Amino acid sequence: MSRTYEFTKDYRAIKCLRCGRTSHNSNDVRMKFCGACKMHEGDLTEVRLYVFAPSAFSQPVLGCCRLPRTPAYDELRAVLDPYFERPRTRTGAPFEHVSVLFHDAPHDMFVDETGAHDQLPRNEPATAIYRAFWLSVHPDEAPEELPAIYGPAVVTGRRVWF
Ligand SMILES: [Zn+2]
Repeated sequence: MSRTYEFTKDYRAIKCLRCGRTSHNSNDVRMKFCGACKMHEGDLTEVRLYVFAPSAFSQPVLGCCRLPRTPAYDELRAVLDPYFERPRTRTGAPFEHVSVLFHDAPHDMFVDETGAHDQLPRNEPATAIYRAFWLSVHPDEAPEELPAIYGPAVVTGRRVWF
């Protein structure tokens, strides 16, 4: 089935190919929704997003998006770019995929690829998730010897990276 939408070149807007309307609403982009047609793209499933900000709070902010079963890179980029936006330039920083153990199962986590280099604050909850699997297999290792996560991190509710 061919898509009923396309993204603009900067991945910040979605164009409905049924009616031609372009929406810059980030919720429409994430959910593949056209307010004029009042329709979602049909062939997608909802995916929960766990957004971890680098702060003292360990609880993630919950989000939601709609994705194909095996999303292409542009699909992931349109959903994830806003979370990795650098306020000064309003451009999305490159994100990097890592496999993690979350809720005792393998999950995909996306982190800021240059967060450490750009001196973003350390993300304690994301760092704990990132290290959990390694430490479960190597319980004698010192956690601080392992890499840490800097900046925001997003875990998807199901596997989206293939
Ligand atoms: Zn439409």
